[in-house]
Amino acid sequence: MPAPRVDTDEAILSSFLSDAAHVPGGFAAGVAFPDSEAEVASLIANATRVLPIGAQSSLTGGATPRGEIVLSTRALSTISSPAGDSVRVGAGVPLKELQRTLAAVGLYYPPVPTFDGAFVGGTIATNAAGAATFKHGSTRRWVNAATIVLASGDVLDVTRGETFASAEGWFEIESTTAALRRVPVPTYSMPAVAKLSAGYYAAREMDLIDLFIGAEGTLGVVIEATLKVVARPRRVAALIRCTDDRQAIALTASLRREAQAAWRGQGPLDVAAIEYMDARALRAVPDEAFGRAGITRPAAKSVMLLLQIEISGDDEQALGRLQSVLTSTGIEDDPHLALPGDDRGAERLFNLRESVPSSVNAIVAAAKQAHPDVEKTAGDMVVPFERLPESIELYRSTLERHGLDYAIWGHVSDGNLHPNVVPRTFDDVRRGREAILEIARAVVAMGGAPLAEHGVGRSALKQQLLKELYGSEGIDQMRAVKRALDPEWKLAPGVLFAP
Ligand SMILES: Cc1cc2nc3c(=O)[nH]c(=O)nc-3n(C[C@H](O)[C@H](O)[C@H](O)COP(=O)(O)OP(=O)(O)OC[C@H]3O[C@@H](n4cnc5c(N)ncnc54)[C@H](O)[C@@H]3O)c2cc1C
Repeated sequence: MPAPRVDTDEAILSSFLSDAAHVPGGFAAGVAFPDSEAEVASLIANATRVLPIGAQSSLTGGATPRGEIVLSTRALSTISSPAGDSVRVGAGVPLKELQRTLAAVGLYYPPVPTFDGAFVGGTIATNAAGAATFKHGSTRRWVNAATIVLASGDVLDVTRGETFASAEGWFEIESTTAALRRVPVPTYSMPAVAKLSAGYYAAREMDLIDLFIGAEGTLGVVIEATLKVVARPRRVAALIRCTDDRQAIALTASLRREAQAAWRGQGPLDVAAIEYMDARALRAVPDEAFGRAGITRPAAKSVMLLLQIEISGDDEQALGRLQSVLTSTGIEDDPHLALPGDDRGAERLFNLRESVPSSVNAIVAAAKQAHPDVEKTAGDMVVPFERLPESIELYRSTLERHGLDYAIWGHVSDGNLHPNVVPRTFDDVRRGREAILEIARAVVAMGGAPLAEHGVGRSALKQQLLKELYGSEGIDQMRAVKRALDPEWKLAPGVLFAP
């Protein structure tokens, strides 16, 4: 099969030179849109540097090219008819489209990140997680099989449960084009947290498929996957105002207990997700966004939680239980509810949640106009849930000690929050990076991780955080995996760690 055409037209290339991290200076040798396994294999076999991309919604610069041929997966867009509890999907299918197809037959794919324009391949490559990871886990748990093109152009079909590392800690991969490859499994211990997107997965006698999930395109290009799906749940969204952090944390802890009881079949309140927006984050949101959601801006110190509740039995029972939990936690206002079937109401509440990052990003963009070096400076921290109060205190005290304006939001039911610096000058960015590094060290000491869901990419700060997590020895072990599968450093070079 000949390789697909590589487009070098500047006008076409220009729309692929940046991802959502908006790091300047992206450049590419060309862009190709292969539409079959053979085309992807042929392109990779004949190229010297390739960067696979999905929707380029990466927040790490990992999908910003640095001179490679950009392999856009968007033409790998098939969705087969769902069979039982699984569906075979091309890497270039946006999650929104997958959900639409599944919804038509009453099915649902749970581990979606907040941005549902992300492609299936990109979410596998970053082990993406989202609000409902609390109930459903991150992407890893939902990938049953994947077809992956290696740097040699060989095609690997991996099915979960079929291939495990040897007891001595190796995989052996037999290739049609090269000698037997021995891939060493790293020996570092991964932190026990609800979500993690921090380089290569490693565990004793691990499943081969887990090596590629979360590898951010550095070990192979995912071209198709078989994903697990479930029956589409009936869902209630509830927006709740808390007077302060203490109340929000207490309510989150109670709701988590209620949810865990529901999963054991011992209660009606099946909470799948709890999202947190602190007072500073709400302050960044313009009045119009509250207006569109039909919500009055809350009092200055208020914190808001947005819940997703899955209803399998009686609505009344679940809502009754919610009300009694709210009352016992001292919540004064009635929650804003979008009941099952009220998709527009739910969307209005989710849009309000989404206006938090977009409003902060708009402030960063405005500052960048005056100071071009200003960039988004944020943490993606996850801690074991029992350390949550301490971690929020840590984020606030560290950012304040560095004299920074900031906002905090995120997936509080997982202990995963995003402390964001709100920079006005490059000096804020510089001090912000120092603060994030300091926070990361303390989070690692708490048994958490500074790389929960967005990955590492080509961000110098995030690569430093990866080193904080596993040490230089851990990074060297990752390099050994990369060398075994991609000795010429062809795929996504410089993503995760320097060559
Ligand atoms: C507003 C907003 C909200 C977000 N919310 C979340 C969230 O809640 N949770 C979360 O986890 N993330 C979130 N993200 C980050 C981003 O959406 C995820 O990282 C997503 O998984 C990236 O998918 P993508 O298709 O855009 O991949 P890209 O950004 O194109 O690529 C990401 C990385 O994966 C590699 N890659 C892409 N496709 C493939 C492939 N087929 N095979 C091998 N490697 C590949 C790329 O080389 C790159 O290193 C958010 C981003 C935005 C902009």
